[in-house]
Amino acid sequence: ARNELHHAQKLEAIGKLTGGVAHDFNNVLQVIGGNAQLLQLSVRRDDAKLQQWIASIQASVERGSKLSSQLLSFARRQPLQPVAVDPARIVRGMEDLLQRALGESIRFEVVEERPLSRVKVDPGQLENVLINLVINARDAMPQGGTLRIAMRDVALSEAEAGAELAPGPYVLLEISDTGAGMPEDVRARAFEPFFTTKEVGKGTGLGLSMAYGFVRQSGGRIELHSEPGQGTLVKIYLPASDEAEAMPDRRVARTESRAA
Ligand code: ADP
Repeated sequence: ARNELHHAQKLEAIGKLTGGVAHDFNNVLQVIGGNAQLLQLSVRRDDAKLQQWIASIQASVERGSKLSSQLLSFARRQPLQPVAVDPARIVRGMEDLLQRALGESIRFEVVEERPLSRVKVDPGQLENVLINLVINARDAMPQGGTLRIAMRDVALSEAEAGAELAPGPYVLLEISDTGAGMPEDVRARAFEPFFTTKEVGKGTGLGLSMAYGFVRQSGGRIELHSEPGQGTLVKIYLPASDEAEAMPDRRVARTESRAA
């Protein structure tokens, strides 16, 4: 539990710092981008070399700007707006989007056991977390494989709940893939903000730390079970709610994710 607290504080401190830096950094990028555009207008159009250099500046500005907006949305820590939702309805509503993100070589299965309790979470954030987990699974299965999302009600005993959760009813979401899996040293650091094993430009290292933050703020727990060559299982426990499902009028999936 000590470690948990330490992690939460670290996450918050990094969030604050990141938000400030990302904002200023973006302003700098805007200046660079604006000047590159002026430059482009003033050099001769048939000067291929110069045009190419300018285009390369603009492409980098674009990449930097994308990264800083991801950082901002990570740091913003939008207040959660928890409502009672059926998690299976959320997942089903994202099926097309997720299948598209996975591509054709990955089999995608969704299964739920009924009756399934509602959970009280911010639906938009749950969607973002699922998208991030699905993208991770896809990246771990370059040769194809199977991604499965399974949902069921569970009752956690005192022993199972451990120090940080209350015993009682939870909904368990299991996101499993048949991909590369993680060696011990990666698994140990996977929730750290900015920890990534992906090449520059591909991974931000924020997906799992965002998932961690969301689950903790929702009163739940997230676990990683993974071994090299054995695929990965992400278990998310969210407290069951007996409130009736709210039917908020909302968009199905945010664009503010890495799926773009
Ligand atoms: P990112 O995906 O941007 O690297 P994450 O925080 O989502 O950031 O993940 C951190 C690291 O954890 C990844 O770089 C990868 O090494 C590892 N990882 C996450 N999910 C999986 C998975 N499903 N299979 C294998 N490795 C994974």
